Amino acid sequence: MRGRGIRPWVAGAAATLVVAALVTAGCRGGTSEAERPDAARPRIVLIGWDAATWHVVQPLIDAGQLPNLARLVEDGAHGVLRAEPPLLSPVVWTTIATGFPPAEHGITGFELPDPATGKPILASTVHRRRAPVWRMASAAGRSVGVVGWWSTWPADEVDGFVVTDHLAYNRFDDWIDRGDADPGAPRHLTFPEELTEELRPFAIRPEAVDPEDVLRLAPFGAREREEMVRAEKPVLFHAPSVIKFAWVTDASNHAFARHLLDTREQPDLFAVVYVLSDVAGHVFWHHYEPELFPGMQAAADDPLAETIPNVYRLLDRWTGEILDRVSPDSTVIVLSDHGMGAKRVLPKPWVNPAGDHTPEGILVVRGPGVPAGADLGVVPQVDVAPTLLGRLGIPVARDMPGRPVELLLPPGTTVADLPSVPSYGDGRSATVPDALSPARQEYEERLRSLGYIQ
Ligand SMILES: [Zn+2]
Repeated sequence: MRGRGIRPWVAGAAATLVVAALVTAGCRGGTSEAERPDAARPRIVLIGWDAATWHVVQPLIDAGQLPNLARLVEDGAHGVLRAEPPLLSPVVWTTIATGFPPAEHGITGFELPDPATGKPILASTVHRRRAPVWRMASAAGRSVGVVGWWSTWPADEVDGFVVTDHLAYNRFDDWIDRGDADPGAPRHLTFPEELTEELRPFAIRPEAVDPEDVLRLAPFGAREREEMVRAEKPVLFHAPSVIKFAWVTDASNHAFARHLLDTREQPDLFAVVYVLSDVAGHVFWHHYEPELFPGMQAAADDPLAETIPNVYRLLDRWTGEILDRVSPDSTVIVLSDHGMGAKRVLPKPWVNPAGDHTPEGILVVRGPGVPAGADLGVVPQVDVAPTLLGRLGIPVARDMPGRPVELLLPPGTTVADLPSVPSYGDGRSATVPDALSPARQEYEERLRSLGYIQ
């Protein structure tokens, strides 16, 4: 379908585009629209369903309950996206973004030492030692937009925008110190910085949650409903509180994504990540497959049995709302960082979840030239980044351990045809500070005294 002239999407959005061009003129790195022959430009829309698994997806597709994902599967290719341990979201989402394993990309856990103080803080871009694909794309003159991707704070400087995983409420901010206690410092919650104020009205505040929104996903009985309404903080593995705060995160990120796609031209590479599928799996799996949990009283009409399906149906609807806002010839990718399965032990707050991560995530790709109905088999996560580069027409780096998935390359292209460069290096942004802590000055003085810096 590439090579078409004006598409209905562009014509319908012409007025928006004029506004968008003005709004984004300041951060587009000087590449004008005239230099970008629109029709020939491959565009990618990547939608992350954290911890989504075929084990839940397939029966819902078969029952006609995930119409948007079902259409993508039918018209595109699908497979299992396989994660390597440790199966932790910050680690594996960074593997997907960089194309490198954790030992090389540097995000090896939820918590890592603050470079300044050595104190454990949330894994952040200051710990990341490899370029994410949005920086590679940006450096190659492609526009990018990223919303809610794990470990993207402080925001990378790109041609386009980054809304980090800390603009919306992030439950890990309550569980692990983020290390940005310096009140005067730029917050880097978004790039560009001023986007933070523009998006603020779309962020749902935890204290302003409509309980009905959460109850539509998790129809709690009276006691848990009360716990959910009253929860001021998420308690690890405590269903009423974590589902509430995960709703806040995802509903905010979805609102940001919709607003950004409504007010700007679609970036060449757009990505948004939702986490409710992970959270629901962790704390409701004993309701989903009660027979796998010794001691679980499996009521035949347990309303919470529908919570995991409710969440998947919501993400399917949101996926449809994203697709309504992008060009129909975009390459659409829905993927998960890992899967989820029964832990076979009843959950207990702070102690253990009901559902646990499994290595097998989902991968669905629909786009020009992607063979309909193709089974991609098992795809290693390190293959995603080179595949994205290949599809965008950007050189693949020869130091990347993964290979582009040939079936997903533009029609007529083989892996051997792809241009390559030696490396994208560490892909550090000028705007990302080297350290996060207010103690940075003291740290620098120490380094200076030791002769490490001038
Ligand atoms: Zn998880």
